[in-house]
Amino acid sequence: MRKRAAFEINYFYCPSCKTKLEFRRVEKKDVLACPKCSFIFWNNPKPVVSALCVQDSKVLLIKRGRKSGSYKYYWALPGGMIDYLEKTEKALDRELSEETGCKMEDCQIYDAHLIVYSPRGLHKKSAYTSIDIVYLVKLKKINDISLLKYDPSETANIAFFPVDKLPKKIAFGHREIIYKFFRKQ
Ligand SMILES: [Zn+2]
Repeated sequence: MRKRAAFEINYFYCPSCKTKLEFRRVEKKDVLACPKCSFIFWNNPKPVVSALCVQDSKVLLIKRGRKSGSYKYYWALPGGMIDYLEKTEKALDRELSEETGCKMEDCQIYDAHLIVYSPRGLHKKSAYTSIDIVYLVKLKKINDISLLKYDPSETANIAFFPVDKLPKKIAFGHREIIYKFFRKQ
């Protein structure tokens, strides 16, 4: 059995029958598989949703807080994971509300892209990937952005940025998504 690379996921036992997993060559890929039952750990990308909110040619970004699992204090589009049985638009509405205090009026699917997480440094290989479903979101009117309520340990700050003055540290390939959107305007 080949050795596990440092970036690979630390799962050791079959979740169905508790047998120790081994690498097996399946469809030209090395995958962790159970030698006893049919379980194969494919490590498929996890779907996430993100909100692209543009007002007066400015884009809404959140600064990730100290409790963020990855990319602490990086800026990003608001968004996150989808709960079990949750519809994508519901997840979008929930994450937007939790992370910014903003309310969604309307949304439509804009784009989807692959995110490669790099918890051990920006240019290292990663154990996890996501598919980010990006929605173009129309927000309900914001009277005063400083009065919006969100958990400061999850979101350190929120702000609207013009496309030519985006912050330096932007996570999840969201800079490219924003540029792509403004190029088409
Ligand atoms: Zn098994």
